Amino acid sequence: MTTIIIGFFVIGIIIGSFLNVCIYRIPKKQSVITTPSHCPACDKRIAWYDLVPLLSYLILAGKCRNCKTNISLRYPLIELANALLYVLIATVLIGFKPEPILWRLAAFCFLTSVLLVITVIDFETYEIPDKILLVAFFVGIVYNIVRWDVNFSINSLIGFFAISVPLLLIAMLTKGSMGGGDIKLMAVAGLFIGWKLMLAAFFIAIVLGGLISVGLLWTSIKKRKDPIPFGPFLALGIYLSILFGDDLIRWYLITSHIAV
Ligand SMILES: [Zn+2]
Repeated sequence: MTTIIIGFFVIGIIIGSFLNVCIYRIPKKQSVITTPSHCPACDKRIAWYDLVPLLSYLILAGKCRNCKTNISLRYPLIELANALLYVLIATVLIGFKPEPILWRLAAFCFLTSVLLVITVIDFETYEIPDKILLVAFFVGIVYNIVRWDVNFSINSLIGFFAISVPLLLIAMLTKGSMGGGDIKLMAVAGLFIGWKLMLAAFFIAIVLGGLISVGLLWTSIKKRKDPIPFGPFLALGIYLSILFGDDLIRWYLITSHIAV
């Protein structure tokens, strides 16, 4: 188990380093693959040995080797966050659930990274780029083909529409209270986790979004007119649903049964 956790941690920081590139470049409509990494301050190309996730930041003490400008703490934090999110998925899913199949873990880790990138970009730009959702959509389709299980795919298909269609209707009726990116995210995620976990995800997102928004208004961090992006709450809801959605549904069914 320790080996597996270290493995997920290492893969997590390496992919996290690529996520930094996505977060920085996708909103600027730059390629995430072809252009090599440059220092944003002095524009000097960064050598491969200074691109080692987490370690390079520590060795360089958070400064560019060439111009000594501070490198944003965000880069190592996102690498670390991605690694810890992977480790948590591996621990919860391998430890407590049946069928810890590799495809499932890989798909959930992929979705988690998509959610992390979307969260940071949505906080900064109030938008969820279509490009990311489109890539996630294709990976979701491939995942369903690889699973090759009719029940699983029916579940995914219902998951694709279960939350996205009601949200689309609300958006059409209220004219723009709900972003298009949010709706597409709730469709694409359904391909990975199915309709039951999507319902749990949406429930978690609304509860957390409500509580945190009230908190932000109460403490005057945000004013009533300030936009609060909903995407990060949806992303958090989906992630928590991957981890605890099944338990939440079971708990709900038991308690509602007792209530009746
Ligand atoms: Zn520099």
